[in-house]
Amino acid sequence: KYESYPYERVQKIREQNIAPSLRTYYRKPLLLHQGHMQWLFDHEGRRYLDLFAGIVTVSVGHCHPKVTMATQKQLARLWHTTNIYMYPAIHEYAEKLTSLFPDPLKVVYLTNSGSEANDLAMFMARLHTRNFDIISLRGGYHGGSPYTLGLTSLTPYKHGVANGFGCTTTMLPDVFRGPWGGSHCRDSPVQTVRKCSCSEGACLAKDQYIEQFKDTLNTSVPKTVAGFIAEPIQGVNGAVQYPRNFLKEAYQLIRERGGLCISDEVQTGFGRTGSHFWGFQTHGVIPDIVTLAKGIGNGFPMAAVVTTKEIASSLAQNLHFNTFGGNPLACVVGAAVLDAIEEDSLQKNSEIVGTYMLLELAKLRDEFEIVGDVRGKGLMIGVEMVTDKTFRIKPPMCITKRDVNFAVEVFRTALQKHMDRAAAK
Ligand code: PMP
Repeated sequence: KYESYPYERVQKIREQNIAPSLRTYYRKPLLLHQGHMQWLFDHEGRRYLDLFAGIVTVSVGHCHPKVTMATQKQLARLWHTTNIYMYPAIHEYAEKLTSLFPDPLKVVYLTNSGSEANDLAMFMARLHTRNFDIISLRGGYHGGSPYTLGLTSLTPYKHGVANGFGCTTTMLPDVFRGPWGGSHCRDSPVQTVRKCSCSEGACLAKDQYIEQFKDTLNTSVPKTVAGFIAEPIQGVNGAVQYPRNFLKEAYQLIRERGGLCISDEVQTGFGRTGSHFWGFQTHGVIPDIVTLAKGIGNGFPMAAVVTTKEIASSLAQNLHFNTFGGNPLACVVGAAVLDAIEEDSLQKNSEIVGTYMLLELAKLRDEFEIVGDVRGKGLMIGVEMVTDKTFRIKPPMCITKRDVNFAVEVFRTALQKHMDRAAAK
């Protein structure tokens, strides 16, 4: 209980002492006190079904007992050693994590945030290729550090200062909103209602977007590039999916120009897309560098970069050091999260419950005009409101069909209220 911090006092401190760039949601922001699995509890004991999971970060459930127990045990044993010493937890975790990747992705660097992981990925790509330019997709979010802000391509996050030299953005292959796309372009149980001129086996939209990608390569960067970064499904931008085979062909074009391909799995990793453990697998590609954060620690601040031995050797020419990266506590948390995903069959749950939720939400799209698109894969879901912003639904992976029924009913009621109010105006 935090009796000395009643709502009004918390609000005042927020106004006076907390960075004003941090925005809260809702007219009356929630004051949270506790979490358990897919549930959150506010200061008055009200329970909420959490469909956002701290922006996809709580992967296995708030205060998951297994993760909590492992953390508590480690807290009493050893919090920190820098990795100039050996400690079993980091070796165990490195082995466990890399076992989930296909060859040749077998070397891991542990960092503390997604931005830091992408900073390192950029650095490595440049160092290894001896090229400088990195390309990202518009609408992508790759971090808020000065380096990664050059890749992040969303106006609300852009500030009018010089950052991210050598970063070029290219057209987002958005099959719902973009100039090309249609009803069977994307890998989702729900397709757009938009008519499609694609034929069996050939995706016209993909071809057009690839032409745009080539145009960027031919006009905006040197003949050789350091790399290309993309999220398998865009997270912050609202679960935007690309046409099938887009990434495959984009990767090929980048590799022809000497660049490395980076998959930002900060939101899509750890089974969230359901059918596969990693988002890149849903596109049939193997990246050269993969970055992980958020769900990797179920809320514990940790992140990682996974790459090949060859690429890692470029960084070994000189010292590279990170004080907190790979600390014992983080490694124990990371290992417990992987165990929880496996033991609770959370990838399977993402697939089953996510598909169910997508299909239920698609009914809302058919019922309400303002729901323009329902998309995504597993529990990486977007609902695009055509007169407003996009809803992002990314709950802890332990939610059930019953939770989905409840959430969809709440959504339906809210939409109905909105429509009634609009009609009364
Ligand atoms: N990549 C993606 C896809 C993200 O969604 C985010 C965070 N929203 C980041 C990178 C940056 O992670 P962090 O906030 O931990 O720096």
